[in-house]
Parts: sequence; structure tokens; C-alpha cells
Amino acid sequence: MNNIRLHSSQLEEIVGPIYGEIVSQEGKYRKVHLRDSTGKSRTLGLAKFGAITDPGLKTAHAEIIKGGLLGETLRQSKLDFRKEYLGSFEVVLPSWLKKEFSTQGEIALALCSRIEVKPSNTDGIADQYALILEIIPPELREHFDSKGSRLDTLTPDMRSLCKFAGLSVHTSKPMKKKRCIVIGAGPGGIVAVKELLEQGVESVICLEQGGEIGGIFSRGYDNLILTSSVTFSMFSDYWVGDGNDHHFWSKKEAVDYWTAYAHHYGVLEHIRFHAEVKTVRETGDGVWEVCLTSGESFPCDHLILAIGNNNIPRYPEWSKKLTTVSFSHSRDYKNAASFKGKRVLVVGGGESGSDVAYEIAQVASQSWVSLRESSGWIVPRRRGGHAADVSTHRGIWDLPRDYGKILSPFVLKLERARKDPVFDALAVLNERIKAERGMWRIYGTKTLALPKSIAHHGCKVVGAITGVEDGGRKLHTACGETLENVDAIVFCTGYVNQVAFMPKTMQECDPRQMFKHMYHPDYGDSVCWIGWARPGFGSQFPIMEMQARYNALIISGKMKLPEKAELLAGIEEDFKAYREQFEENAERIRSLVDYHRYMNGMARILGCYPPLTKYFFFHPRLWLHLMYGPTQATQFRLRGPGKKVKLAHEIILKLPVSTYNHIVKMGFRGRLRYGLRAITPRFVQART
Ligand SMILES: Cc1cc2nc3c(=O)[nH]c(=O)nc-3n(C[C@H](O)[C@H](O)[C@H](O)COP(=O)(O)OP(=O)(O)OC[C@H]3O[C@@H](n4cnc5c(N)ncnc54)[C@H](O)[C@@H]3O)c2cc1C
Repeated sequence: MNNIRLHSSQLEEIVGPIYGEIVSQEGKYRKVHLRDSTGKSRTLGLAKFGAITDPGLKTAHAEIIKGGLLGETLRQSKLDFRKEYLGSFEVVLPSWLKKEFSTQGEIALALCSRIEVKPSNTDGIADQYALILEIIPPELREHFDSKGSRLDTLTPDMRSLCKFAGLSVHTSKPMKKKRCIVIGAGPGGIVAVKELLEQGVESVICLEQGGEIGGIFSRGYDNLILTSSVTFSMFSDYWVGDGNDHHFWSKKEAVDYWTAYAHHYGVLEHIRFHAEVKTVRETGDGVWEVCLTSGESFPCDHLILAIGNNNIPRYPEWSKKLTTVSFSHSRDYKNAASFKGKRVLVVGGGESGSDVAYEIAQVASQSWVSLRESSGWIVPRRRGGHAADVSTHRGIWDLPRDYGKILSPFVLKLERARKDPVFDALAVLNERIKAERGMWRIYGTKTLALPKSIAHHGCKVVGAITGVEDGGRKLHTACGETLENVDAIVFCTGYVNQVAFMPKTMQECDPRQMFKHMYHPDYGDSVCWIGWARPGFGSQFPIMEMQARYNALIISGKMKLPEKAELLAGIEEDFKAYREQFEENAERIRSLVDYHRYMNGMARILGCYPPLTKYFFFHPRLWLHLMYGPTQATQFRLRGPGKKVKLAHEIILKLPVSTYNHIVKMGFRGRLRYGLRAITPRFVQART
């Protein structure tokens, strides 16, 4: 038998170097029995080696047998090395190994990790090199238990490894299999399923009422273009394109991306299309019964609601008086053809409202947009050929939100200085926002559609509607305007936060009363909402991914949702912070969150906040991208559970960094301004 010293960094940290001997080898499998330097039996290492095609890898393979730590050996052979910890579970030891542990019982904890290598300085995906199972004797379990996952997280690979070693998984304390149902196959639903699968939760069904994935983007209006650029719209670990193309997807491109993503991560097999959920009820013992309109029903332990909050249209009270004039909601809008030559009022001017108003203004004989106050803080999608959301970076967003008082008038001044009618219209609209914090007190509307409608297509902005005459043909506004001979009204007034199929007590769901807009304190981790946190700026997709990661870690047992009292305290704390930042908008728009505050807060819970100081000293180029590139999802894959360090480095370095523009300069000015105060607790609290 060859003596070897196998990679086992976690054990070695505790007991020092570990030596071992190969007990047997069969094809791809190698059984290795390890001892520490005192000769005490420590662990059984079992390695399953994947197909090795590269000659360089063969060398490394051979050298491990000669001795040396696996990681060290691979690095010496100029191979990049990545060890990913997959999970832990209890096993009953086989008889040949039991005697080694005779004084400590026969149940041990097994740790499983995957080792991947690829030649340095090359692109491409790492080959799976080995799957290693390490047996931890009982006296060392305390060091690993906190990371322990459940029995049902064993992947088929891990199972075959156990079988080869003659290990049987301990069943005296059977774990309940976690059955999960995800409702909705929009972006929120597919990332929820992907993360569950990635954390080893295999019993997942995704129910989708439609016939394809993509949610509202599979049925939205014809010319829908996303308002977040590709860098903010892609999920963290599935990258297409070169990342630096400042492109904004059409709805088709978005659906194509999510389809490819779902395919890549094996999500598609878990989706049942044309499965409309009609009711959900609690059957006791924490089990939910999900019933479809087809009559079928499914029990589950965890319910994940990824149905989007674009389902039940919201109408203002006065819409009830519309008896003559025809009206519709943006949910059902496809294109402006039916409004040609008409006098049309669009109510509301958020992102969809602006797009709808723009299309209608081009064909209508007269168009108006009714705004209560503003249409959000309008920013263009692009500036100078660059996606403007590249400036949604830590360089500016790490400053206290009070800085909005200085930033907003400064930006307005610049827009006015362009002497462009579209930007003049933009400035007039943004000036309607009364609060001092300006842009940081409200959501962003990342399109110039409304200013363009005003500047180029005769669209008029009017106040909130206060009076209805002649069944809607004549309307009065809070600003004293009268709109005559109205033919049609399109409501772009958002949606009601309601889930019609849930039990009565849960139908009204207020995101502000849920921990991180995800968990209702009365239902704990048995029900999770994904996609009910709408960021003012930034993008909703990274938020949905972060939520999906947290939920998957909780369901797989790797993290625990805090107790009810803590959830309530967290809800209160967040609400207080958002009320302070968004003022009455926090009350009115119940899903509204601050992107950086939310993502950084979640990252701290998960332990995946990027190590900025470390990169500042050891990888300044990456640090520059983290600080002055878009704060998109991949930034949160650099550490913590679910980390994909190598891939994250590759992706982040591909992303654009902001040019030295007015936002970057204002960030520097802000830092000078807050310089000394930056060390006070109040500042730290106000920071995202
Ligand atoms: C017009 C528009 C443009 C947007 N553009 C952007 C953007 O550019 N960037 C950005 O970050 N955010 C954008 N958003 C916000 C947000 O990202 C989207 O709303 C996103 O679609 C939310 O994804 P979701 O998966 O949560 O919900 P949805 O996309 O709404 O998907 C929910 C899915 O659940 C299914 N479902 C609902 N009820 C049931 C049921 N009873 N049974 C079975 N299935 C059901 C639906 O069929 C749907 O497929 C936009 C929103 C809108 C309305």
C-alpha cells in the first residue's frame, strides 16, 4: 500500500497533518484510511475521480499518490484548484473500520466535498476531478455539526460513494424529506428551484399556470425592453455575452436567457406547465395541500410563492364611475393600435406607465398622463452609449441616504445644462418630487419614454383625477385642469398585494410585515415569498436570487430562520429604516426597498458580503470592479455558502466599470464630506 497524505484541510486544522494508506482501488474509486501523526485513526477518505482527459491532470493524479497535500500538489502542477464543500451526513461505519473507532461508537459524521481542477491561465469550465468523503469521528463532530446538512441532501454521486465504501447512512434519527412546491415559473420561480437543487433539496415541484417560463416577460406588451441592463438582469452564476455590451434585453431575449438558465441547472424537469393553483390549505402538522384547477393536489412541507406581484390590477376609486368611457389596465396592454386617433388618458407614470404613454402618444390625437406627484426619479437607460445602471455602484450607494439632498439637485442641474427638450421635460418631472432626499426617497424610472412623449409627441402631464363627469368623458384634476371628450383610459396604477388562492388569513400579504419581505412571522420557514421586494434602483433579479439562496439554505438545514421574536424585531427595524428613507412612499408602496441596503443586509445574514478590504490590498483590480462596477448579483458569490470564487472573479472582471463621470465625482465629494463622521455609529447605521 502506498502511504499518502490526503487533502483534508478542515481536519488538519484541528489535529495536525493526516497520513493515510490506500485500502483499495476499483476503477475510479479509491478507498483511503487516514491517521493523524499520533497514529490515531481519523478518517476514511474515499475519492471518486472523474474522467481525466488532460495530460496535465494525469500528472497531478500520480503525484498525489506519491504524497503531499492535494491542493499543494495541484498548484505545483500549475493547476487551478477549487474545493467545494457539499454537505455532511451521518453514516454507520463498515465492520473493517468499526474497530478503529471501537471506543467511540459506530456512528460517524461524513463530510463530502468536490474537488475541481483545471490548467491555470485558461478559460473554460473546470473538470470535476474528485469527490471526497471524509469520516469524522464522534469526538470531532462538534467542529462540523454546525455545517451539517440533512440526509436528503445526498446527491447520487455521494450515495454511490457511500455504497462503494460499505457505509450505510444512519437512519436511527430519520429526517423528514422536505417536499417543496414553488408556485410560478417566472424569474423568481426558476431561481428558487435552481437554488434548492443546488443545496441538495431534490423534492421540488414548480407549478406554472402558463405554458412557458419567464412570467410577465412571456406575456408583457409587444415592445417591452427591460429597464435593467444585462449585467443587472443576469443571475450571478450563469453568464452570456461578454458582459460589457451595455445591452438591454427585449422580453424575448430575457425569456431565452431564463430558458437557457433553467436548462443548464436542470430546473426544467421540475416544472409542471399548465398547472394553475386554485387553492392552498393547511392540513395540519405543517403540511400544505396545493390544489390545481385540474382537480389534482400536492402535499408539501415548504411553499414558495413566486407568483410575482403583477397579478391583481389596482384601480383608483374613481374608476367605478367610468360608465361611458372604455378603460383597461397596463397588465392587458399589448400595443397602441386600438388607440389610434383617440383622446387617451394614461394614469400613472412608472416604468410601464411611461412606456405605454410613449406608444399611445405617438398615435393618439391627444394624450395625457395623470400623476399624483411624480413618475419616480427618471433616469435614462443609457448615457453616452453606456448603460446608466453601471453607476449603481458602491462608490455612490455606500454613502448615507441623506446625501440625496446634495446629489439630486446637482444631477438636475446637469440635466438642465444639456439644453435638450427631452432632458428639460425630465427635469420638470423630477422636480415634482418634493422630498429633500430626491432620488433616494423614491423609486427610479429608468426610461426616457415619458419625457420623450412630452417633448416630441404632445403628451400633457396633468394632476390626480378628482372628478368624473359624463361616465368618464369629462375629467377634473387636482391641479384644476379639465380633460374633455376622453375616449379611453389606461390605468398603469400597479397591483394589489394579494394572493387569492391562499387561506383567507393569508390572502392579504403585506411585504412590510414579512421578514426581509419573505417570511411571515406566523408561518416561519414553511411559506416563503420570492419577488416581493422591489428595489428603488438596481434590479429585482439579484434580489430574487439572494432570496432564493437564503430560502434554499434554510430548507436544506444549513441555516436557520430566526425565532419569531427576532423576526418581528427585524421587520420593525427594516420598516423604520425604510420609513425614514422613503417617507410616505414606504407606506404607500409596500414592496419598495433600497437595493444596496437590502442586498448588503441579506449578504450579512448569509455571510456572503464581499471581502472588500481584502481585495483592496490583494486584488486592487477586482476591488475597483466591486466599488465602481454595478453591484450586481455575482459580487455576492465571493465568499460564504454558495460561493463560486473563481467563476465570480471571471465574471466580475468582465463587467464594465463606471467612467469617471459626475456620479463617481459626487461619490468622492460625499466621502470627503462624511470623512470624519464615517467612524460614528450613526453613520454606520445609516450606511447600506
Ligand atoms: C413591465 C415590467 C417590466 C419590468 N422590467 C424589469 C427590469 O427591467 N428589471 C427588473 O429588475 N425588474 C423589472 N420588473 C420587475 C420584476 O423583475 C418583474 O416583475 C419580474 O417578472 C418578477 O418576477 P417574478 O418571477 O416574481 O414574477 P412574474 O414574472 O410575474 O412570474 C410569476 C409567475 O407565476 C405564475 N402564476 C401566478 N399565479 C399562479 C397560479 N395561481 N398558479 C400557477 N402559476 C401562477 C405566472 O403565470 C407567472 O409565470 C418589471 C416589471 C414589469 C411589470
